[in-house]
Amino acid sequence: MTTTTSSPIIVWFRRDLRLDDNLALKTAVETDAPIVPLFINEPAPAPHLELGGAQKWWLHKTLEALAAKLNELGADLVLQSGDPLDVLKKVIAETNADAVYWNRRYTPEHIEIDTALKSSLKDDGIDVKSFDGHLMHEPTQVKTKTGGFYRVYTPFWKSFYAARDEIVRPAIDAPDKLTSGTGVASEKLEDWKLLPTKPNWSGGLAETWTPGEAGAHERLAEFLDNGVSQYDDERDLPSTEGTSRLSPHLTFGEISPSRIWHTTLDNAADTTGRTTFLKELVWREFSYHLLVNTGDLANGNYNAQFDQFPWDENEERLKAWQKGATGYPIVDAGMRQLYQTGWMHNRVRMIVGSFLVKHLLLDWRHGERWFWDTLVDADPASNAAGWQWVAGSGADAAPYFRIFNPMTQGEKFDPKGEYVKRFVPELEKVPPKFIHKPWEAPKNILEYADVTLGATYPHPIVDHQQARTRALDAYQTMRGKAA
Ligand code: FAD
Repeated sequence: MTTTTSSPIIVWFRRDLRLDDNLALKTAVETDAPIVPLFINEPAPAPHLELGGAQKWWLHKTLEALAAKLNELGADLVLQSGDPLDVLKKVIAETNADAVYWNRRYTPEHIEIDTALKSSLKDDGIDVKSFDGHLMHEPTQVKTKTGGFYRVYTPFWKSFYAARDEIVRPAIDAPDKLTSGTGVASEKLEDWKLLPTKPNWSGGLAETWTPGEAGAHERLAEFLDNGVSQYDDERDLPSTEGTSRLSPHLTFGEISPSRIWHTTLDNAADTTGRTTFLKELVWREFSYHLLVNTGDLANGNYNAQFDQFPWDENEERLKAWQKGATGYPIVDAGMRQLYQTGWMHNRVRMIVGSFLVKHLLLDWRHGERWFWDTLVDADPASNAAGWQWVAGSGADAAPYFRIFNPMTQGEKFDPKGEYVKRFVPELEKVPPKFIHKPWEAPKNILEYADVTLGATYPHPIVDHQQARTRALDAYQTMRGKAA
């Protein structure tokens, strides 16, 4: 740590909780000015952006990790709560800082806040600089030939990939030293009460994840060593470790997508697995492309016809879905994986989503909100886009009338029922032939498996065929009303 006489720069950490490939931090450090690293516990700008329980747990852990990393460089992470403008003005006054640097965030609500902040601070003579880093591209950067935005993924990917060398900038290394600004008080992380206490349900999360930059890089290294070459074959099999599980690390910005992109290209053999993985990474970019270009993705149907959809309202069924007690094993396994670990396999997200929207005819926003509260990777773009895809109301969406059959999906992607048995242990002894439809098992097999339907495991809460017909009728009703 060295001392200088120039005014400090505040580096405001948001969804970029890392030192590696952090352009705001690196640029600030390169000026040789003292750095004041700041994190603000700010009010959510809209109800749907209020942090869920799983992400509060993650935030606590990742802030501890960030603070430790900054300490190694001789700096203390400053924690403050409140309205960002008030906090920034206070910290500027306390430290005599003359500049604030940050990496951009992209929900419409945050863009509005940051634009206003920038102009207000600039009026006070503060130098405000914003940088990229949460995404590989700026969401308005990729355009159709007519200058519009893409509504469908494949042409977006083609356009992105063709221009990848201009779009994906090289990742930059973490600074190896910095000068710390001093004289500013910090709140205590414990006082923010982000961790659950009564009850403490976070045991499964702690067993599954290592929040923080080091944990993110370990995951990537492990995936590049063992996962990426089989990614194409295994990414749809929820019983395997077939995907990277980098999503929560990306959501909190503990690793940058550009770092993942380049490290993958540099270290993984050129296989279809590698290309498919990069394509998935670009799905995340596409979700932000949609969010920024369409606006209110988490609340409104992109396809306005769905405003006429005759959704059901049934609290009991919603609860059964949330608890993983629908009587459809693959759905229940997914919902329990979510609750226990804060994450769910992508294939199963599609299955449980389709089940909520089509079998139960419940509004997709119930699903979006539950995922938001329980996922460690809850992301304002990918979650909303994922739900609109599932519901059929999105820009690039599964057609509503294509209804996932939970039994055949289970048989195809979890043929031995290993995934189901991991999360629905009461079906442990059910043979593979019946694991996805225990109600069809003969009495003696259920007896052998210690399963009593309606007592140890629920009867299906809806009949598949009837639910399918009801969903298709509802779709026709919507089309009739919207015509
Ligand atoms: P990998 O298969 O290893 O993919 C690598 C990365 O690519 C992921 O970490 C993620 O950042 C990105 N990615 C992969 N698939 C998608 C996709 N379909 N859309 C956008 N990005 C993708 N993803 C979230 O990060 N946050 C969410 O809140 C979220 N909600 C979803 C809700 C629904 C209903 C659905 C169907 C999907 C949702 N997804 C969400 C997308 C996807 O399920 C997860 O990104 C993926 O399961 C994360 O696991 P992974 O890191 O092992 O993915």
